[in-house]
Amino acid sequence: MSLTQDTLFTRIIRREIPADIVYEDNLAIAFRDINPQAPVHILVVPKEPIAQLSDAESQNHALMGHLLLTVKRVAAQLGLENGYRVVINNGADGGQTVPHLHLHLLGGRPLLWPPG
Ligand code: AMP
Repeated sequence: MSLTQDTLFTRIIRREIPADIVYEDNLAIAFRDINPQAPVHILVVPKEPIAQLSDAESQNHALMGHLLLTVKRVAAQLGLENGYRVVINNGADGGQTVPHLHLHLLGGRPLLWPPG
């Protein structure tokens, strides 16, 4: 991978930046958000640096399913049996700030709807 493809999250994957990692496999990593919005706030991130959901292609089909199943696995691991929310912010209007696809897993308290 060239340096131009580096994101904050690729640097976490490479252990160049510390993170509280709760799960990792060959395709994905999950770590605690540095600015949690709920008692449990985890980011599930593909190791492949897809910038955002709208850049995913049909070739990423299996990876996208893997990311959702990873959320389910981590939620169970962290004891979120009362439920949780999964969020993907996509692009500027979606509120995305890190250009590396990630799924937010939020739980540990009742969450309001609609979001802001
Ligand atoms: P988004 O706004 O959807 O792009 O989400 C990016 C998330 O990354 C935010 O919730 C940030 O709090 C989180 N974040 C930024 N830097 C770090 C970091 N070094 N470790 C963990 N989470 C981070």
